[in-house]
Amino acid sequence: MYRNTYMEVNLDAIKENVEIIQGICKKRIIAVLKADAYGCGDSHVARAVLSAGASMLAVSSLDEALMLRNEGYEGKILILGATNQEDIEILIKERISVAAYSRAWLEAIKDKDLKGLMVHIKVDTGMNRIGYKDIDEIKEVLETLIAKGCIVEGIFTHYALADDASQVDTNRQFEALKNIVEELDYEFEWIHADNSDASVGFKEDFTNAVRLGIGMYGVNNYGIKLHYPISMHTRITMVKHIKKGEKVGYGLTYEAKEDEIIATLAIGYADGFVRANQGRCVYIDGEYCEIVGRICMDQTMVRLPREMEVGTEVEIFGPNIHLEDMAKDLNTIPYEIICLISGRVTRTYIWEEKALVENARLLKSEVTEVQG
Ligand SMILES: *Cc1c(COP(=O)(O)O)cnc(C)c1O
Repeated sequence: MYRNTYMEVNLDAIKENVEIIQGICKKRIIAVLKADAYGCGDSHVARAVLSAGASMLAVSSLDEALMLRNEGYEGKILILGATNQEDIEILIKERISVAAYSRAWLEAIKDKDLKGLMVHIKVDTGMNRIGYKDIDEIKEVLETLIAKGCIVEGIFTHYALADDASQVDTNRQFEALKNIVEELDYEFEWIHADNSDASVGFKEDFTNAVRLGIGMYGVNNYGIKLHYPISMHTRITMVKHIKKGEKVGYGLTYEAKEDEIIATLAIGYADGFVRANQGRCVYIDGEYCEIVGRICMDQTMVRLPREMEVGTEVEIFGPNIHLEDMAKDLNTIPYEIICLISGRVTRTYIWEEKALVENARLLKSEVTEVQG
């Protein structure tokens, strides 16, 4: 790690979060590790969730599933999103479960050899993304898959408004799933609907597993106290004194109102630190410091309230700047902020109280253990 711009992921805290949530929902955990575990590193987060007892991992595509296989994970994986008709052979060979999600998907594969393909039927109970809505169609899908020798191991739906405390829509979606499963009269090993918010906030004992994503990182809308395992940091690369009236950055959009101290940081929008952060604050040595001028591709300027040294660590988000507050400021959600942290940002991990560093991109294969 040479650039000092890094995201720290505390896997011990993720493990504990999974255990806390499992203690609340008392269902099997399907850990959702799509998008490189929301940017946190799928193989690392996998280690934490598996040691917390997760029963299955879920991803969004075959590519993501194969990355986990390549990293040595041999257990159950479910692809939540769409797969292509050409993928069937490899799905069977790699024992990766797929979602049955549309008429066109089934039409495209039904003349292939599907023996041994593991399937979860996706039911659309109101979100209108992917899945089957009509009970007769679902019956037909189930019959076809069984006749073709598939292993139909699960059925699931996804809530569109799990963060809404009234739960009116969640309840309606849940009842729709329940009615369908009861009507099918088939023994599904896995019945799942809850995302993180529903797993801590929505109570029912019909489903038997939850799909846990953002909750692992401490975010939930039901006030459950969890650890915050991720933070992002950089360092000051230069400090300068400017005179009243001098301007800062591309477009010269910031003008010093008095003589000021400006620090440059080694972070920019190419790190996923989007330009909309201009005007927000970062946290440096006990002070909230305003981001002044436009954020550049690799660098950002802030106004310091007092002299600070080059090399001083800067918190982008973490214990003093909450990821959820940052998301509110940016009119987005925590998911988007962490997913956008780019590949060149070094990831560092805490695991069993030891620190691990995974160098970004070019150096990625070097994972070294350092003193904690
Ligand atoms: C992403 C995703 C999840 C996880 O959602 P969180 O809100 O992060 O817990 C669960 N199920 C499906 C189908 C998803 O796409």
